[in-house]
Amino acid sequence: MITASHAARLSPPETDWRTLWREAITDPRELLDVVGLAHLADRLPPGHAGFAVRVPRGFVARMRLGDAQDPLLLQALPQLAELDVAPGYSTDAVGDMASRSAQGVLHKYEGRALLIASGSCAINCRYCFRRHFPYGDEMAAAGQWRKALEHVRQDTSITELILSGGDPLSLATAKLEELTRGLADIPHVTRLRIHTRLPVVLPERIDVAFTDWLAAVPLQKVVVLHANHANEFDAQVDDACARLREAGATLLNQSVLLRGINDDAETLAALSERLFAAGVLPYYLHQLDRVQGAAHFEVDDTRALALVEAVRHRLPGYLVPKLVREVGGEASKHPL
Ligand SMILES: *Cc1c(COP(=O)(O)O)cnc(C)c1O
Ligand code: SF4
Repeated sequence: MITASHAARLSPPETDWRTLWREAITDPRELLDVVGLAHLADRLPPGHAGFAVRVPRGFVARMRLGDAQDPLLLQALPQLAELDVAPGYSTDAVGDMASRSAQGVLHKYEGRALLIASGSCAINCRYCFRRHFPYGDEMAAAGQWRKALEHVRQDTSITELILSGGDPLSLATAKLEELTRGLADIPHVTRLRIHTRLPVVLPERIDVAFTDWLAAVPLQKVVVLHANHANEFDAQVDDACARLREAGATLLNQSVLLRGINDDAETLAALSERLFAAGVLPYYLHQLDRVQGAAHFEVDDTRALALVEAVRHRLPGYLVPKLVREVGGEASKHPL
């Protein structure tokens, strides 16, 4: 006999991703408490070091208990080192991006236009330039989209539209539908690319409504995930990746090289292997953007190159990410 509690276990009610989004941990003391490190609360910087804490509970559940060096914890927990003022590190590393994205669209590279579809993220990564650029959700206002799409419509050299942010999947699926409807009469755009960390940090986002929308988009689809460590994957993330592939998306991953988190060859190789197990190919390994508060994460170029070389010796070529840096004014990401 199947009891009510049995049935509930067999098919758990799908928790709405927006609820999980809202229930994210935003208090660093609570974060420490949940991972069994409450005694480290006196090492927290005042005022979250100027960048609010935010991390979904499902992601926290993948952290190791009692490990202050856990690679997932270190991506989300504010550190005193964020208060250090490092020469060459800017609070305006993306200043020109801020101004150019006023229209919501960045068209720096040939054939590809990048739309800042949303300023929100489910997680606040401590190394991110967003810590100095709290762009608002008005980016996604329909009026702005129309202007951005008008630019794309006028320029027939644009064959790929990239939805980025922040995280574009922070938008309601209905909003995304509205956007892709606007693409319907722009025949030169043949590819839709989505840059998102949500399938990793909040896999519940990849719900039926979302995959129905993605499957119906009549373009080639690429989803570029963002994971920095193999431990970010679990069965639910695997499921989300599988559903994205079933909806017709090619899956790639970009990572940031982060000292103390993934800066050894074994960790990087394990990440590549784990990505491939989830049906994802490694794409870019980024050198850190030099933003104030993130200097303690930097790995110098010499070591970075040696690490990638060591990974190249271990893994098939298709599992070796390209090591790049974003250099203002260049026509592509800068290979190291
Ligand atoms: C990174 C980026 C892209 C995408 O570059 P790819 O090398 O194609 O991944 C496109 N536009 C802008 C503005 C970018 O910063
Ligand atoms: S998800 Fe991406 S954009 Fe958002 S805070 Fe993290 S690194 Fe930055």
